[in-house]
Amino acid sequence: MTRITVQLGDITEQQVDAVVNAANSTLLGGGGVDGAIHRCGGPDILAACRELRRTQFPQGLPTGLAVATTAGWLPARWVIHTVGPVWSRREDRSHLLASCYRESLRVADGLGAGTVAFPAISAGVFAWPLDDAARIALGTVSNTPTRVREVRFVLFTPEALEVFAEARARLPQR
Ligand code: ADP
Repeated sequence: MTRITVQLGDITEQQVDAVVNAANSTLLGGGGVDGAIHRCGGPDILAACRELRRTQFPQGLPTGLAVATTAGWLPARWVIHTVGPVWSRREDRSHLLASCYRESLRVADGLGAGTVAFPAISAGVFAWPLDDAARIALGTVSNTPTRVREVRFVLFTPEALEVFAEARARLPQR
């Protein structure tokens, strides 16, 4: 059974096997979580991402998929990059956001990662409403079979922490 926790913090500081990056499809860096991970993790992460672009993903990483690289100087062993959907008022892209969490856990299982930290994917620059982002994040992780022992949601603001903690509390007792 996977333990699911929520806490306030900076994803780059987590002592876990893998941290998940809310990347964009270029894999070449951006703002928010992505910027922080590349800044703190150093140049090896970007080099690994460039190599992925050259080999596996010349068109970029599609939305909803995930791929792992080294974590460079971060305390984690791996960074799992996933591309969340941009929030849309006209189109329901929830399945793509759910897919980010599922695919990241699938990649984590492939690596043998026992502990994984997630940010609130799509809830920053990609503008997903926080309560819905939390509902999808917690709901998907709790319904995905995985060998990961601990999934830690690391929220950057007290507001996000509160919303994720509420969504966590609404999960069936586990
Ligand atoms: P996206 O482009 O998928 O929306 P962002 O990185 O812009 O991703 O934001 C995702 C969430 O991560 C936001 O709630 C933002 O406040 C939060 N965030 C930003 N920096 C960090 C960090 N260093 N650690 C954890 N969460 C962060």
